[in-house]
Amino acid sequence: MSTSKNTNESLRERELAHTSGVYPTKDVAMVRGKGAHLWDADGKQYIDCAAGHGVANLGHAHPRVVQAVSNQVGTLTTLAGSFPNDQRAEFQERLTAFLPEGFDRVFLCNSGAESIEGALKFARLTTGRPGIVAAQRGFHGRTMGALACTWDKKYREPFEPLIGAVQHAPYGKLDGFAELVGDDTACVIVEVVQGEGGVRLATPEFLRGLRALCDERGALLILDEVQSGFGRTGRRFAFEHYGIVPDILTMGKAIGGGLAMGAIGLGPGVCELKVGHHGSTFGGNPLACAAGNATLRTLVEDRLVERAEELGQWFRTALGEIDSAQVREVRGLGLMVALDLRCRVAPVLAALQERGIIALPAGPTVLRFLPPLIIEKEDLEHVVKAVGEVLAELTVEGAAR
Ligand SMILES: *Cc1c(COP(=O)(O)O)cnc(C)c1O
Repeated sequence: MSTSKNTNESLRERELAHTSGVYPTKDVAMVRGKGAHLWDADGKQYIDCAAGHGVANLGHAHPRVVQAVSNQVGTLTTLAGSFPNDQRAEFQERLTAFLPEGFDRVFLCNSGAESIEGALKFARLTTGRPGIVAAQRGFHGRTMGALACTWDKKYREPFEPLIGAVQHAPYGKLDGFAELVGDDTACVIVEVVQGEGGVRLATPEFLRGLRALCDERGALLILDEVQSGFGRTGRRFAFEHYGIVPDILTMGKAIGGGLAMGAIGLGPGVCELKVGHHGSTFGGNPLACAAGNATLRTLVEDRLVERAEELGQWFRTALGEIDSAQVREVRGLGLMVALDLRCRVAPVLAALQERGIIALPAGPTVLRFLPPLIIEKEDLEHVVKAVGEVLAELTVEGAAR
């Protein structure tokens, strides 16, 4: 092990020596975060508009999360799910209070994919049916069940056969879903806003139509809000924009204030669960629950959901005013925002990183922003200006070629 001073270069080399290889390795190493900012190993500061793919809704090292985790780590970190615990009891109360009426049961797990796995099991258990209908362009995670529901062949095909009985219909096309949902369908699973699939919003007709279709055919509606939940879209959950509720809600990413956590919300349409039906060693551990308690308290008391709505409106309008032929469309909800480009996104992301801004792709031509909900408007103003400059430069370079 090297004991000399860490640099972007040295950390990259050390990681590459032992990595599995599944992650593209970037050229900067991030070593510290505070609020909406990150610092690399060479000391350069960045505005973080990725927030760990929508994990850091409260920003990095939020004082309340730091305090809660620090206290709990010296008190009790791990405990089997069969023993009740003060942090878990409080978290289950806070989470069910944060969910719509009727969601008075939750299963706690450790990640988004795990929440999907449990949701699929509970839908099969409730209906006694095997079938699953998911959406084209959907993304639900990398474990076998979640992967089977994911659309992109590059994730799925090398690992087939996955769990059978998953069919995909075009996102937004109610007719396509109506063709596939039948007597053997346990559930329909979709994102309210497709994140990895390009920040694509459901229309009200589509989402309400799916709700009615599931009711009519006796299937459960699972909404995957792993990315869009916890204030990201300017509502607690994105489905609140649409006036419907799911039967099962899957949650992850931002739920634990940066700690690994996931959860499944169970509506009244889900059957009674019994001992042995499901479980998780780390699910609902006191440390994650303490972080979750601080997170939910902060989201509510600091009105961060409302903040995401207002700041997101402003941000999307400002991005829309960028005068560039490269911009096809600005879309999003709250602070889940995308710029659909006429050029490839990779060079735009690289140029933004050069200027100290971290953003995300969502497909080959979509630039995605998932900034912390606590981000200052000045930071977003800086981002808008930089995006305008980068697109102008790329246009000039493209024309010169
Ligand atoms: C990230 C994501 C997942 C998977 O979550 P992991 O914690 O990476 O397993 C599932 N669904 C959606 C919509 C996501 O964005």
